[in-house]
Amino acid sequence: MCKQDEESIGHLFLHCSVAQDAWQALTGFCNDATSCRQSSGNPKQLLQNWPSRPGVTVQAKMWALLPYAVLWAVVPWAK
Ligand SMILES: [Zn+2]
Repeated sequence: MCKQDEESIGHLFLHCSVAQDAWQALTGFCNDATSCRQSSGNPKQLLQNWPSRPGVTVQAKMWALLPYAVLWAVVPWAK
């Protein structure tokens, strides 16, 4: 996408500057989410390590789905 690095799945979905804009827009205010993304080598690892939120609230459920939404949003650019 950015033509600045190898187009591995980890780069395309997590670390590319284009993908980072999507992540920043939706999770930029949460340091644990940013840390999780930065320390993950690929989307599967990110989903496994995604920080949870306590409780069974709507917010906690939305938080759990958020990484899937961001990954889905990045798909058109990753093609
Ligand atoms: Zn890139």
